[in-house]
Amino acid sequence: MEIKVDKKKCLGCGLCISLCPEVFELQNGKSQIKAKVDLKKNKNCIEEAKENCPAKAIIVKEK
Ligand code: SF4
Repeated sequence: MEIKVDKKKCLGCGLCISLCPEVFELQNGKSQIKAKVDLKKNKNCIEEAKENCPAKAIIVKEK
């Protein structure tokens, strides 16, 4: 599993951080993926963040 935040689309609303604080963090007003995060363990909240992101800026690639 691979995830990315499209920083051009991200509004910096903070929703993904509230839904999945172990994975996302705000950096200069945009969401980014934290280093060394366990994606598998956080799969559910990543999906939730992806579904709820108002800008559809979260890209999830299953492998
Ligand atoms: S929910 Fe979407 S728009 Fe809001 S901070 Fe996260 S990635 Fe950006």
